[in-house]
Amino acid sequence: MSNNENNTVLVVEDEPKIRMGLRDFLEFHGFSVTEAVDGLEAERIVSESKFDMILLDLMLPKISGEQLCASWRKGGLTTPIIMLTAKGLEREKITGLNLGADDYITKPFSLEELLARINALLRRTSPARSVGSKFTFGQIEVDIAALKAVVSGKEVQVSTRQADIIQFFAANPNRVISRDELYQAVWKESMTDIETRTVDMHIAKLRGLIENDPAHPQMIKTVRGAGYVYQFQGC
Ligand code: CA
Repeated sequence: MSNNENNTVLVVEDEPKIRMGLRDFLEFHGFSVTEAVDGLEAERIVSESKFDMILLDLMLPKISGEQLCASWRKGGLTTPIIMLTAKGLEREKITGLNLGADDYITKPFSLEELLARINALLRRTSPARSVGSKFTFGQIEVDIAALKAVVSGKEVQVSTRQADIIQFFAANPNRVISRDELYQAVWKESMTDIETRTVDMHIAKLRGLIENDPAHPQMIKTVRGAGYVYQFQGC
């Protein structure tokens, strides 16, 4: 398998056997692998380099995987994260996903299953790199530079803010985006409690423009208690 040759993965795992096993396996499948042995090292490496994927153990010395994930997402990091968890508790997994992880796998896991999940996640997130000025968003055609969208044959004008929101969702398909993350990405500042409402109002207005039935949105869906998701059913 050589189709993963350009993909870089950071493996954050303190257990040497698991870490080295992951490294060997992923390198065999064409990934370029960097290792971090504890939370502090992971934090430093991520501040210095970009990766296509992070595999993150939860129980780590110095800084826990949960803390790392939360602080990375708060800082605007969009790299796909798969949590490696020894805890089989449903509650822990949901916490991980709420902290911004994209997927999780419970130890002991099969390497083949992990590879399938990594590839699925890379497929889901790869449109992020190819979102240009003109693209298809759900059932509409968007021209970001011209601030225009074509909705069921009719051309509509979008604001720069709405264009930024569309672009951010288009770059992050099938991933639950918290209001906090969306606010940071679009407004470029940290969110306070008041701004939760701002985000919701912008989404509602945008749905009114681009959804066929804004009461039953097909493009930007609400995920109760978590945020929004752009459901992308492309290749
Ligand atoms: Ca561990």
